[in-house]
Amino acid sequence: MSNPHFSIVIPCYNEEGNLPLLFERIHAAMAPLALSYEIVVTDDCSTDGSWPMLQRMARSDPRLRVQRFAYNCGESAAVWAGIRAARGEYVITMDADLQNDPAEIPRFVQALERYDCVCGSRVQTRSRGDNLLRVITSRVGNRVRNWLSEDQTSDSGCTFRAFRRECAANLVPFTGMHRFMPTLIKMEGYRVGEIAVVNRPRHAGRSHYGFWNRLVFLQDLLAVRWMKKRKLRYEIADCVEAAPSDAAAPPH
Ligand code: UDP
Ligand code: MG
Repeated sequence: MSNPHFSIVIPCYNEEGNLPLLFERIHAAMAPLALSYEIVVTDDCSTDGSWPMLQRMARSDPRLRVQRFAYNCGESAAVWAGIRAARGEYVITMDADLQNDPAEIPRFVQALERYDCVCGSRVQTRSRGDNLLRVITSRVGNRVRNWLSEDQTSDSGCTFRAFRRECAANLVPFTGMHRFMPTLIKMEGYRVGEIAVVNRPRHAGRSHYGFWNRLVFLQDLLAVRWMKKRKLRYEIADCVEAAPSDAAAPPH
């Protein structure tokens, strides 16, 4: 297959109860767009039946490409490895648990006409798919994040996003980066926008995060703040070089 227009990149850890319906809904959402696409799944060393299921499905569906980590490396690594494996001109990242609704993919595709990177925001619907503690930590987290990293992303933790693949080409990957992608891509000079998305309850299985492992994000936040302030910036105003024919002349 020549390079597809879109690569839909999905991290997967113990999601066997979600995968068949997820793929069915992605195919249903993509069909009317008449754009070529691939689905790239990175199995983060699941201990349930996700990997045998993915292997079986990938053997019969040429649009599906799957890879498996040797050990559990975490969501950031799974998303990043998927982006690296992607061949599409554009990448769409989404979770495997159907909290992100594939029916909204066409809205991202449309918004890519205006932006290089489009990020989902669950601010209006967060309380429908998550409990009160998650809603509050997310709101406080986004406020603190925007304040310290001098940014205005309303929901940086929403991993439902679409961007030109080149937006990620020069990013330096780190554990936790999936929560900072809008800021990191803006730092690369790309146009980043937002669209409101729904936040559904998880279809099957359970969340892999609790209150405490989300707190690590403070450490990442300070690193991003530092990186943003210290990023090497320069602009070449003028430049003189000998033409190749002059350079080839022997010195006197
Ligand atoms: N995930 C992963 N590796 C992990 C934890 C999570 O690949 O170690 C995947 C998971 O399968 C899902 C996405 O990352 O597709 C988000 O995880 P989860 O739904 O548990 O996070 P939440 O929505 O609760 O923040
Ligand atoms: Mg989830």
